[in-house]
Amino acid sequence: RAKADGRNRYRFFDSSLDAAARRRSLIERELALAIAEGTLDINYQPLVDAQSRHIVCAEALVRWSHPTLGAISPGEFIPIAEETGQIGAIGSFVLRQACKDAVNWPAHIRIAVNLSSRQFLGPGLLPLVESALRQSGLPVNRLELEVTESLLMDMSSGVEGTLAALSRLGLRIALDDFGTGFSSLSYLRRYHFDKLKIDQSFISDLETNQDSRAIVEAIINLARDLRMSVAAEGIETRAQFDMLRQLGCGEIQGYLVGRPMPVDRFEDYLRENGSAVERLYA
Ligand code: C2E
Ligand code: MG
Ligand code: MG
Ligand code: MG
Repeated sequence: RAKADGRNRYRFFDSSLDAAARRRSLIERELALAIAEGTLDINYQPLVDAQSRHIVCAEALVRWSHPTLGAISPGEFIPIAEETGQIGAIGSFVLRQACKDAVNWPAHIRIAVNLSSRQFLGPGLLPLVESALRQSGLPVNRLELEVTESLLMDMSSGVEGTLAALSRLGLRIALDDFGTGFSSLSYLRRYHFDKLKIDQSFISDLETNQDSRAIVEAIINLARDLRMSVAAEGIETRAQFDMLRQLGCGEIQGYLVGRPMPVDRFEDYLRENGSAVERLYA
């Protein structure tokens, strides 16, 4: 019996692995089509200054809506695109399009674009950024690039050099999902980031978990002492917003402030919330 169970379990495991592998290769093939046909899209999510409630930045988030599979989240297809190398084409589309869109917005609003670690391999990133800025006419100080701690795990001289060269252009580098990676704080000494983005996993239980609160407070203080700005993502409630404001967090991003939106809806949102985001006063 034990043997039979084992065999069944093995077969079950095997076929679910199979399904995952089939889904992966389906995504890979369909993604290639979407890239070729130019059907990927970008949503923009606002970030506000915690004190003034003014919109100060927007994060570009890639979107893929497949004709039959429906919406496929970047959480699923970005890791696949990183493995296949398709991230190069996706990254270039998002950066160029985001710069073109942002140049039409009020000049104090920055645009933040996510970069995968893989985009740091090879010499293409710096010329891509320079060309996206040149072709869009976006001033370099309005561009922010978000990298994650996984990049720092192989912080070779190549990566460090590219980060430094990007900084020298005059744009800002933000460390995204801060606190979730396996990197050590010593990276903050080796390289100066302009901004830390506190990962949303520390925000969701901010009101109930003393430990999360202590970690968030420590990150905010660390950022201030190291002369970095600090943002928190995933803010969904007024209580979270108020707590982060009191702790001295600089910028706030999350569904409470605004969801990721297609460009035309984001531009309506900018017009409607011209001076400050009304709903944050309620
Ligand atoms: P991220 O850069 O940390 O982006 C924040 C994610 O949190 C987004 O998920 C956003 O929609 C979601 N979010 C924002 N506010 C809230 C909230 O209040 N509650 C909750 N539950 N979620 C919130 P999304 O758009 O699914 O993107 C997931 C990840 O995929 C991003 O995480 C980023 O790592 C990656 N990604 C997205 N677009 C790109 C891209 O153009 N290039 C690269 N390389 N990665 C991207
Ligand atoms: Mg991000
Ligand atoms: Mg993040
Ligand atoms: Mg995240």
